[in-house]
Amino acid sequence: MTDTLFSKIIRREIPADIVFEDDRALAFRDINPQAPVHVLVIPKAPIPAIAAAEPSDEGLLGHLLLVAAQVAREQGLGNGYRLVVNNGADAGQTVFHLHIHVLGGRSLQWPPG
Ligand code: AMP
Repeated sequence: MTDTLFSKIIRREIPADIVFEDDRALAFRDINPQAPVHVLVIPKAPIPAIAAAEPSDEGLLGHLLLVAAQVAREQGLGNGYRLVVNNGADAGQTVFHLHIHVLGGRSLQWPPG
């Protein structure tokens, strides 16, 4: 996999507003927020997209969801929030390092665009 912006954030080569970190995951604020709270949760392992995840990633993927829920709780999103994973060009994925968007702090419309 080619290096991405997010690998550089993990290595602290470019700055980010980090809100959570452990040995397997990192969460930081999106640079172009689409809601009052917009955090990205990423694995430290360079998985390019959810479609590229392997059966051996099962535990890591579960961990990322739990981190997303913890971040949402810590960011005060008790009224609700949305988790989004864009996969591929048609879904608008622009950074090919798996990430979960945590969006909240306003009323979110459904269906999404
Ligand atoms: P996606 O379109 O699902 O691939 O989402 C990529 C997200 O990464 C977008 O919401 C961007 O605003 C965000 N993003 C891009 N560069 C940075 C950065 N340097 N720091 C934080 N978020 C970023």
